[in-house]
Amino acid sequence: MKEQSKYLKILGNIDSQNEKGVNQALEKEGFYSKNQGFPIASLQFELTSHCNLACKHCYNNSGINNISDAMTSQNWISFSQYLVEHGGIFECIISGGEPLLFGNDLFKIMDILHEDGTLFFLITNGYLLTKEIADQLRKYRYHKIQVSIDGVTSEYHDSFRQRNGSWKKAVDGAFAIANNGIPLKIAHCVTPYNIHDIDDMCALAYSLGASSIMVGELCLSGRAAINKDLLLSNEQRELLFQKVRENISRYKGKMGVKCSHSVKEGLERHYKSPNSGAIIRPNGDVRIDGMAPFVVGNILTDDFAEIWTKKIFDSWNSPQVLEFINSFDKEDRNYSFINYVEGDVSI
Ligand code: SF4
Repeated sequence: MKEQSKYLKILGNIDSQNEKGVNQALEKEGFYSKNQGFPIASLQFELTSHCNLACKHCYNNSGINNISDAMTSQNWISFSQYLVEHGGIFECIISGGEPLLFGNDLFKIMDILHEDGTLFFLITNGYLLTKEIADQLRKYRYHKIQVSIDGVTSEYHDSFRQRNGSWKKAVDGAFAIANNGIPLKIAHCVTPYNIHDIDDMCALAYSLGASSIMVGELCLSGRAAINKDLLLSNEQRELLFQKVRENISRYKGKMGVKCSHSVKEGLERHYKSPNSGAIIRPNGDVRIDGMAPFVVGNILTDDFAEIWTKKIFDSWNSPQVLEFINSFDKEDRNYSFINYVEGDVSI
């Protein structure tokens, strides 16, 4: 099958769920080399700033404005074709806002990349994840589909995500994904209000057929800045780590249990592999990382290949980026420049 073979031929028969293995294979094949050409290892499409939920912690402040995104469906379709014509991408991370709001246009975008062999990592809140949509998603090749579930019951989740009925839809949607044989990752945000439910949450993820659960605290970004009561204390963070260790042992060989890495660690890792990925925002901006507020161009006005080959690598060594990375405190918070609260910075 042509559409499934392009990158598999390059990388061999790797387990796409094994992040370390994938990264090693990509490094070996030169995806992270200094020549920064195509194919690209990973690009994130933030399809829309709109969302059907209004979560209290939303790291990029989605779902609160009614302004039309500059990037239309047709722009995303054309950009996907452009990427394929220039050598393609190994993995496309699709997020938002809520990407399933794109309806059938989401599948048009995925089809273009899928036929070129791209692997997907789809991030959704699950609200629109009906059995029919889960069936439509079945044909693609995945790293994983991530569904966010923040409580073992609807009460906490619906209040945290500010929409009644959202827990039930996420749980049913997650089950439909796993039931279709797609690798399901549950993302679970831990706050002082649900920290004692981690064992039950892992049990719920396992019962839904998840291949992994990522349990992590909120980062100080976006709406968390106005809801700081949701951030963990040092003592609570220790409890989180302890609970994650216990559940790693409990589910060994059955389901992956991970703690999300710190923001600073993620940025330092990206700094070492500058061209391992970037984000295209709903306004067309090319951002170097979801957790770093630096923009190196806009695909609606600039040629993306030029941006990729001439700006991405060097941007990571700019003084502003290094200062931003070094400004995180011991609790992994950067109060000097809060991501998605202050405006983005062009470099
Ligand atoms: S966290 Fe996700 S689901 Fe919640 S408002 Fe933000 S984009 Fe929407």
